[in-house]
Amino acid sequence: MAPVASEKLVKGVLDGQVSAIARLITRAESGEESSEAALGEIYKRTGNAHIVGITGVPGSGKSTLVAELCKTIRADGRKIGVIAVDPTSPFSGGAILGDRIRMGELGGDEGVFIRSMATRGALGGLSRATLPAIDILDAAGFDLIIIETVGVGQDEVDVVRAAHTTVVVSAPGLGDDIQAIKAGILEIADIHVVSKCDRPDANRTITELKTMLALGISLGDHADRPIPVLATSAASGEGTDELVEAIDDHLKWLKSGDEWQKRCYRTAEMRLLKAAEDILRDKFESNRDGKVQALAKRLAASEIAPQPAARQLLDEVWKEISL
Ligand code: GDP
Repeated sequence: MAPVASEKLVKGVLDGQVSAIARLITRAESGEESSEAALGEIYKRTGNAHIVGITGVPGSGKSTLVAELCKTIRADGRKIGVIAVDPTSPFSGGAILGDRIRMGELGGDEGVFIRSMATRGALGGLSRATLPAIDILDAAGFDLIIIETVGVGQDEVDVVRAAHTTVVVSAPGLGDDIQAIKAGILEIADIHVVSKCDRPDANRTITELKTMLALGISLGDHADRPIPVLATSAASGEGTDELVEAIDDHLKWLKSGDEWQKRCYRTAEMRLLKAAEDILRDKFESNRDGKVQALAKRLAASEIAPQPAARQLLDEVWKEISL
């Protein structure tokens, strides 16, 4: 099949066509330079979606919760997109989530879009296509976009900088009761969720989490806003409506002051740095047998130090970058 022209793809995305959205994300993932112009057009049409990061350790019930959220959000008529970022494999969490939705009552609904992405091999946390994928869904008119990630560290920091609202999920019975502390992600939460509250040991997890928050361990940026701790159960359906309400309330809170602008600016800064890093990595790759090799050999022979070698490399590839 002949490749679809970029302009047509952009138009398809802006019209909310699922096939165009999927194709453009695939192009972004493959890192084709030809996608840059299309993504640039798309970026200009972003800024309307509410981006929500959902994170927590493996097994905390994120995918199950996200599937519940999709149903609830759809029921009130909003369009919801999900980007599930899996640090190990493209075929686990997100794919399972996709299957759950497909098998459920949302199969064939154009108002729900779910995509799973691997971060494996992508240097610097989030996969290179994660943020463009969010842009694509935003421009396509999705009201709420969820980025689901496993709580493993750097990814979460990136997620919190790309999301307007961050939900941290903990669950009873995973051994370490407040897993967010161990994962170092307690303080990035705008909303805490304790999932699997149908389990008898859930109350202990909720109490411990509330105690931690009362002790001020996670005050972070949130000193002026109490952080809700919600209990949910996919098994009984409990708590999903409350979570949607808390997510919506957080958006209202962001927009009631200057916090929305602050977060958008923080994301913009992060994206500028990431884009610069991506350009540099590409140039490094394409010059590996030439300029990089010459400098690396001198470095290996201790004839030059890393810092001046890097400056020289940057100087040499400068013209290619600014073309
Ligand atoms: P993830 O790795 O964080 O995405 O977690 P999953 O959504 O895959 O769930 C991990 C396990 O917890 C699965 O076996 C789920 O069936 C189970 N689970 C998820 N939600 C609930 C719940 O509300 N109640 C109970 N009892 N188990 C749940």
